[in-house]
Amino acid sequence: MAWDFSTEPGFEEQLGWMRGFVREEVAPLDLVFPHLDHRVPPPWLRRVVDPLKTEVKQRGLWACHLGPELGGKGFGQVKLSLMNEILAPYQWGPTIFGVQGPDTGNAEIIAHYGTEAQKTRYLRPLLEGEIFSAFSMTEPQGGADPTLFECRAARDGDEWVLTGEKFFTSNAQHAAFFIVMAVTNADVSPYHGMSMFLVPADSPGINILRPTRYMGEAEDGMDHPHIRYDAVRVPLDSLLGPEGEAFTVAQTRLSGGRIHHAMRAVGQAQYAFDMMCERALSRRSGDQPVSAKQLVEEAIALAYAEIEQFRLFVLRTAWKIDQGQGYSREVRKDIAIAKVLSYRVMRSVLDKAVHIHGALGTTDEMPLARLWQLVPGYGIWDGPTESHISTAARLILKGRVPASGLWPTEWVPARTEAAEKKYAEALLERARAAGDAAEVPAGA
Ligand SMILES: Cc1cc2nc3c(=O)[nH]c(=O)nc-3n(C[C@H](O)[C@H](O)[C@H](O)COP(=O)(O)OP(=O)(O)OC[C@H]3O[C@@H](n4cnc5c(N)ncnc54)[C@H](O)[C@@H]3O)c2cc1C
Repeated sequence: MAWDFSTEPGFEEQLGWMRGFVREEVAPLDLVFPHLDHRVPPPWLRRVVDPLKTEVKQRGLWACHLGPELGGKGFGQVKLSLMNEILAPYQWGPTIFGVQGPDTGNAEIIAHYGTEAQKTRYLRPLLEGEIFSAFSMTEPQGGADPTLFECRAARDGDEWVLTGEKFFTSNAQHAAFFIVMAVTNADVSPYHGMSMFLVPADSPGINILRPTRYMGEAEDGMDHPHIRYDAVRVPLDSLLGPEGEAFTVAQTRLSGGRIHHAMRAVGQAQYAFDMMCERALSRRSGDQPVSAKQLVEEAIALAYAEIEQFRLFVLRTAWKIDQGQGYSREVRKDIAIAKVLSYRVMRSVLDKAVHIHGALGTTDEMPLARLWQLVPGYGIWDGPTESHISTAARLILKGRVPASGLWPTEWVPARTEAAEKKYAEALLERARAAGDAAEVPAGA
């Protein structure tokens, strides 16, 4: 019997250390150095954050998102889930532990598809936390549907020339390089006509048209710009993965990115829930805490149920990946559902948590406002909720078959007739014992 929901004692001890360390050392960074977590720190900030990163490295908890064969620690996705739950409530959490998006997803595809030279140039410093990166896929005219992408790359001598526009390339202003998806053969299906490129951020021809900020993001916060690639030239060996196979490469990145986002959503929803419980117990209405009011009790019980179901689902999906199922069809179905639940659970729990805090919950004096602002993003980044619902439904239905005739397989009249035939003798005996000839079934 292998069902086991416990954490091995050695790792539980690490998680316990993380909880204290994150609360004492990392959470305060959000309050005094907000928005500086996704860029190379200036010397004065290095003096603060480098010792924290060193401590994490000494505990063996740095950059745990990749397996040993890919240059990481090899903790696997279940342990990463448990870690992300602790890190995600705080902006600086993932950066201090070397697991911040979008760099984790970018590192994953370079680790999977990069040449040794690409790994040396891009992956090593990325894993060391020395540089940051950006993923340039979405375009102004098409985000959810990559078959509409127009940005192109053409061979010219010993170079590729990239021309076109991209939108929402997160953290472009502080990235050392971009991973750009571009059409390399417009004459074949887009599924085999696009390629991925590693493009240094200082390449001539990269024009940031405007920064574009996510709602509520500060002026100096992360940008998600509209970019024009004006004949940007990169050497032929800038191709990441096989030519024409950007869809497959992107799938690796996006599947990993989605489940990592779901892990973070669990931690953020739990953080909001903890605040909500404390407030409900502290705030009074008449002679009772508001936690004693039935409708508040309902909000607390339902939020608990939503988070627990979601958490178990994310952990089981992570476990499936760890069991060697990778991003198989079975796992992609669950990742799609985890992505849908991230949005729904965050929306539902944040709504309750903000509401139960009353006016205070709507202000910038609680961490709830920042978490609340993430909710619409959860429904859109990595593809909108609707397309993941469709993907999941299609994968769920694969291998299932329609009914063989007019009536459903479980149609009760046909099943009753079959059951009466199967147990005709017993039915006959029962009818005789009751002395009721009318009860003798027709088929007996
Ligand atoms: C905070 C944030 C960070 C991001 N970071 C990056 C990044 O680093 N790199 C990057 O390349 N992109 C990034 N994105 C962009 C993101 O991947 C796209 O926004 C997403 O794929 C949706 O594309 P779109 O915004 O163009 O929406 P659209 O394609 O315009 O879709 C709009 C709406 O139409 C509906 N819709 C679309 N398709 C379907 C469908 N198949 N079925 C049913 N309804 C549908 C949905 O309601 C959807 O929300 C980021 C987005 C956000 C919000």
